[in-house]
Amino acid sequence: MGRGHQKDGIDVPSLEMVKWFDSNYHYVKPTFQDNQTFNLVETPKVVSDFLEAKEAGIKTRPVIVGPVTFLHLGKADREQSVDPIDLLENLLPVYEQLLAKLKEAGADTVQIDEPVLVFDLPAKSKNAFKPAYEKFASLGAKIPNLVLTTYFGDIVHNLEALPKDIHGVHVDLVRNPEQLDTVVGALGPKTILSAGVVDGRNIWKTNFKRAIETVEAAIQKLGKDRVIAATSSSLIHTPHTLASEKKLDPEIADWFSFASEKAVEIATIAKAVTEGPAAVREQLEANAKSMQARATSSRTNDPKVKERQAKITEQDYKRKNEFPARIEQQQKKLNLPLFPTTTIGSFPQTKEIRGYRNKLTKGEITAEQYDKYIEKEIQDNVKIQEELGLDVFVHGEPERNDMVQFFGERLDGYAFTTHAWVQSYGSRCVRPPIIVGDISRPAPMTVKESKYAVSVSSKPMKGMLTGPVTCLRWSFPRDDVHQSVQAEQLGLALRDEVVDLEKAGIDVIQIDEPALREGLPLRSGEERTKYLDWAVKAFRLSASGVEDATQIHSHFCYSEFQDFFYAIAALDADVLSIENSKSDAKLLKVFVDEAYPRHIGPGVYDIHSPRVPSEQEIKDRIAEMLQHLKPEQLWIDPDCGLKTRQWKETKEALTNMVNAAKAFRAQY
Ligand code: GLN
Ligand code: ZN
Repeated sequence: MGRGHQKDGIDVPSLEMVKWFDSNYHYVKPTFQDNQTFNLVETPKVVSDFLEAKEAGIKTRPVIVGPVTFLHLGKADREQSVDPIDLLENLLPVYEQLLAKLKEAGADTVQIDEPVLVFDLPAKSKNAFKPAYEKFASLGAKIPNLVLTTYFGDIVHNLEALPKDIHGVHVDLVRNPEQLDTVVGALGPKTILSAGVVDGRNIWKTNFKRAIETVEAAIQKLGKDRVIAATSSSLIHTPHTLASEKKLDPEIADWFSFASEKAVEIATIAKAVTEGPAAVREQLEANAKSMQARATSSRTNDPKVKERQAKITEQDYKRKNEFPARIEQQQKKLNLPLFPTTTIGSFPQTKEIRGYRNKLTKGEITAEQYDKYIEKEIQDNVKIQEELGLDVFVHGEPERNDMVQFFGERLDGYAFTTHAWVQSYGSRCVRPPIIVGDISRPAPMTVKESKYAVSVSSKPMKGMLTGPVTCLRWSFPRDDVHQSVQAEQLGLALRDEVVDLEKAGIDVIQIDEPALREGLPLRSGEERTKYLDWAVKAFRLSASGVEDATQIHSHFCYSEFQDFFYAIAALDADVLSIENSKSDAKLLKVFVDEAYPRHIGPGVYDIHSPRVPSEQEIKDRIAEMLQHLKPEQLWIDPDCGLKTRQWKETKEALTNMVNAAKAFRAQY
């Protein structure tokens, strides 16, 4: 379902993959048919996992996604019209069976995740909680106790949906500590509160004083028997253990706490509130000392960066002229055909490339040898693009381990880990760098490779950068200064890079912001407006230092931006490429409705799967797009970078893409 299937005459595109709330973790969107039915598999994984742990002598609390969240996050399949939430009645019997099986296997308590409670919910989804949880309550001892779990936001606006007759409710008190009183007031008479006081989304040591105060406030109201201390969310979003980090500077390592350490923190907090602070005096003292050391360290504060931030003017956010004047100059310089073709930046990161990088890290080859190898890769990539007949080339990003880590390693203010991997989806992991202090760029980061690429290319070469918001979102950010401050610092650092690329003869520069959407606060309203304001400003700061003739592109994965379209338009990028192939082309209507004047390349095929789209399929997509967009606006490109793909399918797909573009060019 996740990868699609193309074999033996069967050709099924993969299901849509989206981000889990505002995290960088992905899931496959549940996709439903009209009259969808549900069946429980013989041995559900959650049951066999529970038994496996039990046999090893560990009694666990299984975690399942709740029925309302499962349906609310789903969608009707193409050409189907079902509203997923209407399927609740069909779905509930399967939950009953599953919960009974877990009980039979020996589970006393089950965590049932209903994080959609943090959203602004439509009435239908909100009203679905009552029948679902009344049903579960009616099953009594046939099923385990349930802890309804929410995270990444507050649930104050959805309290009516909270079941009264439930064993426990979990809330995120790291993000929204202020919801404590209100939620406690809305609990059923016997319901337990699970207080999420250790951050499941970041790597900073917990401030014990603050966390203990919060748990104690809950105990005051509910009594010791009705409060659980917990992490704010799943620890899937944090790396495993600090113990593996042998190379981390001890000064900095003292500020961190990864998943294992966070588990110990929970135990310490629990001990402090049950046995009194004296029982954990040593830990509390050490913790207070770390907090103090971090706040006053010279590694967190750089006066030069602050000084530059203070000098930013309105002009720094603006290109010299408006788009019509810019595009004319750009076109003179680039001379592109109608429906220009390009890719999003990366080409397959082969085993060989990763092998070379490994050897460099281990010191088995010199930096010069590595650079020579990268140059050869770039040269090959250019040659392949020439053969494919693409119009705007990329160097292929062979030198980049990851689109954020690479920049983090070249910026001051960052710390890196060696083993701190976090799952992104399936077997794919990322190793987010950590922002520890004020950020600045000590030297150019990408100019060498881009300049080389220009020197071997016959066509316009696009330089690739990761934008300020994405650098921020895909790093572990600081929790001691506002994210807008960190984004602004990144914007300034990237601005210098953009200007240097222009000086080096790179006429097209793409600033990727795939994480801008992911960072959007989960609820509409003031918080969202504020976020978009600083996010757009950080982008514009990075992009606006160039001449009109330099073409600025930006790229977004996931194009569901109907509700904040104005911000996408406000980026003022000359060309936007957006992931679109799995969404509905109708979504592009917003560009028409809002009279979007600039250029757009909605992705014409999905890159998450090895499946090769046929030329006809791509033509159909382009035809659909042309119902909404003007021909002179439209670029033809894949959904995203191709680093996770193999060369074979990449070449086949791009050949079909270029041919499809040529066919349309001939018609116009
Ligand atoms: N330039 C990046 C690449 O092609 C963009 C990746 C992304 O948007 N996730 O890999
Ligand atoms: Zn992308």
